[in-house]
Amino acid sequence: MIANKEYCPYCNADLQGEMIPQESQKAYGARHFTRKIGITSIDIDRITKWRCPDCKMEWEGN
Ligand SMILES: [Zn+2]
Repeated sequence: MIANKEYCPYCNADLQGEMIPQESQKAYGARHFTRKIGITSIDIDRITKWRCPDCKMEWEGN
């Protein structure tokens, strides 16, 4: 499994969170939780933006 390192595009904070317990890694498809905050649009009901927990800046995501 590839370590999916993520950084904030604004302040370059490390967005990799806690390690996901081994038994749950498959369900999440990742080894670590992420610290970025998903912003859902009311219209589309899916995450359209991400927010950095450190600098509070937002960016378009997928
Ligand atoms: Zn940031």
